[in-house]
Amino acid sequence: MSFIRLEHVSKYYKSEETVSVGMKRINLALALGEFVAVTGESGSGKSTLLNVISGLDSYEDGELYLFGEETSHYTIADWERYRGTYIGFVFQNYNIIDSYTVLQNVLLALEIQGYDRKNRRNRALELIEKVGLTSHKHHKASKLSGGQKQRAVIARALAKDCPVIVADEPTGNLDSASAKQVMQVLHDISKDKLVVVVTHDYAQVSDYATRKIKMHDGEIVEDKKIKPAQDVVATERVKPRKLPPLTLLRFALRNLFSTPKKLVFMMLMQILVISVLSIVFTNQMAWVREIGLEQSRVFPSVPETRVLVEKRDGSAFSSTELAALASNRHVRSLHEHGVNFYNQSRLFIQSVDGFGYGWVEGTDTAASLARNEFEGRLPEALDEIVISAYYRSFQVGDTVRIAMGSYWFWGPDEDEEDSTIGTFTVVGIDKRDRQIVYFSETYLAQPDLIEDMVDINKRNETRYAIMGNMTIDYDGFTYYMGRNHGPAQAYDLVVQGCSPVDQGLQHVQFSTNTIIGTNLTHSGHYTIGYCDPEFEYRYMTMRGDIFDDMINSLLAQVEHEYLIHRRNLVSLSVDGYYGGNQLIRTLDMETYKVYYPANISSPLRDFLVFFASLLALIFLTLFGLFLYSIVHAVTRNVMNARKKDFAIYRSIGANQSMLARLVILEQVLMSMTGFVITIIVLNILANNITYIGTTIQYMENRDYAILFTAFILFGAWLGLRFNKRVFKQSVIETLTASREE
Ligand code: ADP
Ligand code: MG
Repeated sequence: MSFIRLEHVSKYYKSEETVSVGMKRINLALALGEFVAVTGESGSGKSTLLNVISGLDSYEDGELYLFGEETSHYTIADWERYRGTYIGFVFQNYNIIDSYTVLQNVLLALEIQGYDRKNRRNRALELIEKVGLTSHKHHKASKLSGGQKQRAVIARALAKDCPVIVADEPTGNLDSASAKQVMQVLHDISKDKLVVVVTHDYAQVSDYATRKIKMHDGEIVEDKKIKPAQDVVATERVKPRKLPPLTLLRFALRNLFSTPKKLVFMMLMQILVISVLSIVFTNQMAWVREIGLEQSRVFPSVPETRVLVEKRDGSAFSSTELAALASNRHVRSLHEHGVNFYNQSRLFIQSVDGFGYGWVEGTDTAASLARNEFEGRLPEALDEIVISAYYRSFQVGDTVRIAMGSYWFWGPDEDEEDSTIGTFTVVGIDKRDRQIVYFSETYLAQPDLIEDMVDINKRNETRYAIMGNMTIDYDGFTYYMGRNHGPAQAYDLVVQGCSPVDQGLQHVQFSTNTIIGTNLTHSGHYTIGYCDPEFEYRYMTMRGDIFDDMINSLLAQVEHEYLIHRRNLVSLSVDGYYGGNQLIRTLDMETYKVYYPANISSPLRDFLVFFASLLALIFLTLFGLFLYSIVHAVTRNVMNARKKDFAIYRSIGANQSMLARLVILEQVLMSMTGFVITIIVLNILANNITYIGTTIQYMENRDYAILFTAFILFGAWLGLRFNKRVFKQSVIETLTASREE
């Protein structure tokens, strides 16, 4: 039975203006065992016939039968399978992957058909031996002569172990000696196969051919049996298997590394794009996340670059705890004597010889300043400071006094102790418009800088908390109480809303709510005076002097709330407000107490964040598209140069999905490596370049994951697009085009 049969098959080439005939009404039956020589002048349709037979090209009229069965219902995938299973190709322009060695070219065919792993290499070497290229097996194909290339291609065609070998002018570009060798090799392998050789020089094959077909103007004008062909029983072939992932990976890596210059170029481009997009991305995230944050006024004197941590039990930090804090990626430096930062109190800065003054929002170490963030120099001596540009009345060289609490330049209020911290010389100006004073590291490292120092604000706050939450249990009721502002009175307590009986000396119990963390109580005997039962609320006032005494004694019980010195307060210098918030999230709040501007969430803020995210997303998408178009153009050019290679892959049996997976894998590998390199480089640069450093602090693991996924998908998509383009053209179109180039 014939293996392939053509019945009235015609093929036309249609271009926009013209239709040219490739071949007309061809009737032909070919069987295994034949060695068919196709001759005819140029343009007579030889190639067309071969391409149709081998399923490389489509045809218009007639029918092609395989094993006697129609093929009109064949899909592209069916034809691919057909080619992959039955046809080995040898073309005139030695379709060989130039960047591969001879061995790799031959191995490729074996790998694609899923040839047994262990014997693959031996089989390839055997075939290379057969075509006489053993000495050249490790040479790159691009370095071979025409004859050698053609023989390598034959070895590869053989590797496929398919019943049909089609060779389109395999000796067209060879000198006669090489041509002879090639034909000899074709003959050697022709036993039990169908070999169809196109040649314009019949003499080259006259010794071997079992059949001669001559074409003219797209028609067969002569079909002559020369000698009997071998009788071979056609067997159904096993279908090519799917490539295992590891083989695919090996292909991808081999492809990448077989063109090292291209690889480096593509990688550099990827890295460039990924860094630019990462930085733009982080900038957008920074913007969105800053909107989501708002500094509360709970601890007004703690700047966004400083996190104060204290243990709830007040004990000292162990070295392990300190190390754990210092190792957080948002922490730039750690100061054990956090109290030295005066963070618990509002400071006041005033010029000694002029009238300049201003509030200080917080203090920091000058070491936290980056070189480009300030003018002048960093403070070294104990009495040198850097101040922020907010204090416009001060300049480098000025002498200023810094005090705690509301200390105006004309001196402390009567009821306040002199809380001057010291006199300092301004040696540098922080260019940012904020209210921060930067002390030298030497200054802040002093262990007992603030001795017996009271945080006046905090003490007042505590005092008001006690006073505002004072109640008295009296006569079975709970009364709120306050200070009697009236003139001196004979009675200790004056009651409103009481039952008018219990005047005189009474035992009463005072207590406060747990507003300040401790439930304070106080009891004693007091003379209850005037009582007004008509009054709507139960309210008591206490004689001014005894009230003050009582409050002071209660205040003394909670000294730890406002005494600054001897507190085991650790100060952490963080990379920004966002970093500070991220750091706090990692801390165990059962153990630690943190002083830092709180992150307030509100419906408006949530909406703003949502809105900002949306804008950021739009911007990122547009910017991403812009970068994409650049990468796409470059990738397309690089990929176009590989079109021929892919056509070769297809001609030796790789199907669309296999190649799709291969290109995608290559792209993904490149994106992945590019991404990892970029992130490593950015993180290294972050330590040296402030801009990158401040930007990168906003990058969370989730963001890395998002970017990573985006780039992988991007790479995969590029691969997919290219694959589609490749498969828009038939193999033969691609090969013809690459021949013309
Ligand atoms: P041969 O291989 O014998 O030289 P071909 O099969 O290549 O002949 O070509 C047969 C005819 O079909 C020629 O007239 C040629 O111009 C035309 N032809 C071949 N390929 C194409 C093509 N891709 N587009 C248009 N016409 C083509
Ligand atoms: Mg031709």
